[in-house]
Amino acid sequence: MSKHYDLIAIGGGSGGLSVAERAARYHKRCAVIEVGDLGGTCVNVGCVPKKIMWYGAEMAHSLEMAADYGFSIDNKGFDWGELVKKREDHISGINTWYHSYLADSDIDEIRGHARFLDAHTLQVGDDTFTADHIVIATGSRPVKPDVPGAELGIDSDGFFALTKRPDRVAVVGAGYIAVEVAGVLNALGCDVSLYLRKQQFLRSFDAMLREGLMEQMLADGVSIYPNTQVAKLEQEAGAITLVCDKGSRTASIDQVIWAIGRVPNTQGLELAAAGLATNARGFVETDALQNTAVEGLYAIGDISGREQLTPVAIAAGRRLADRLFNNQPERKLDYHNIPSVIFSHPPIGTVGLSEEQAREQHGEAVKVYQTRFTSMQYAFSRREVATAMKLVTVGAKEKVVGCHILGPGADEMLQGFAVAIRMGACKQDLDDTVAIHPTSAEELVTMR
Ligand SMILES: Cc1cc2nc3c(=O)[nH]c(=O)nc-3n(C[C@H](O)[C@H](O)[C@H](O)COP(=O)(O)OP(=O)(O)OC[C@H]3O[C@@H](n4cnc5c(N)ncnc54)[C@H](O)[C@@H]3O)c2cc1C
Repeated sequence: MSKHYDLIAIGGGSGGLSVAERAARYHKRCAVIEVGDLGGTCVNVGCVPKKIMWYGAEMAHSLEMAADYGFSIDNKGFDWGELVKKREDHISGINTWYHSYLADSDIDEIRGHARFLDAHTLQVGDDTFTADHIVIATGSRPVKPDVPGAELGIDSDGFFALTKRPDRVAVVGAGYIAVEVAGVLNALGCDVSLYLRKQQFLRSFDAMLREGLMEQMLADGVSIYPNTQVAKLEQEAGAITLVCDKGSRTASIDQVIWAIGRVPNTQGLELAAAGLATNARGFVETDALQNTAVEGLYAIGDISGREQLTPVAIAAGRRLADRLFNNQPERKLDYHNIPSVIFSHPPIGTVGLSEEQAREQHGEAVKVYQTRFTSMQYAFSRREVATAMKLVTVGAKEKVVGCHILGPGADEMLQGFAVAIRMGACKQDLDDTVAIHPTSAEELVTMR
């Protein structure tokens, strides 16, 4: 079989689905090619299952606190398998919904692995498909390190496949996925160690966030090993022994979880047949309009090597379709001031420049407002949880260039502040906004 389209998206994840959906709205003939489950990383092994596990972990923390609020609760335990089953049922509902959504939107769903025959032709199994515009949205996948015994450990995909709670877990990595997975496991009753190659985790984030979160995780019982490189894993007596570069050995680990990074999915795509090469890190580079070096070929989402977040992939896809098919030649995603949340315990919300970045770029013109307090929710609880907030401003008008929050509710608090910052808000604009009381968020408009 062979068929021609206006647009084909390779990859039915956040990016591919959005570009095809928007293009179809402009009455273009579209197809999405997907080798795995519709929804891609976010729906199947990313944001969605992660957030459900985070809710479970937050529930565990709330139960700990219930007695402080006068409840007498007999906690009869936690059934990991039950939570995972409900989570997977929920996800399979989303997968099913996507199939009918594509059909209802007149988008062809092509099952299988796509490879380029030339810049406008793709092969999937025995079929070939051509398109005027092809969008590469093949995403990324987790990697394991090149050390002996690495295969004894699992990655974030493996974490979501666990049907039983492991007792003793070593998480290796310093990015947000490592921190989130460690936090969930710890709250749900595992004995968790976190191994960091360098001194800090979340190194690109504002120091206040990473230092505050590290303090909290240590207080909550996570063992953190900074400056420790895992040199090999060994199978011993039905468990894993972790051997570090300095020779130390930690035995009897049930599960090692590698969260050391992700690599782009270009395997078997035959980019060279389309005249495309990847950059040194393996990503498909684009200009600001998501154009690759070959006319009619575009890349969006994780594969393009920019911020690896679902809403970024979606926004880039929608804007690309607007540009190609709705007469908006300059329409593109502005990659500045992208807000993000780390679903730690408590969560982090962050947008804009960290204090360090601002000082590097603007030197003496930077003024910082910072506060740290215990929110009312934790005023008399046994588990102490600090809230920390920072506004980074620049210049005489104190334009807000960064907003960083660690604390309960930070995840929901940030979105509105991100709008204000994108619109160019200055400190005075925040000061002139009437506070909502009693909340933690009010501190952001009352900082001195
Ligand atoms: C554990 C984890 C937690 C995360 N949490 C968050 C979060 O809280 N918030 C957030 O915004 N982001 C989060 N992310 C990141 C987010 O999931 C990704 O940035 C997003 O899914 C990228 O979308 P994409 O369309 O680029 O790629 P993907 O969603 O990965 O989709 C790519 C699709 O392409 C398919 N594919 C690959 N090659 C081919 C081929 N040759 N032929 C056919 N199909 C192919 C793949 O099967 C896949 O389904 C998380 C990621 C992980 C791993």
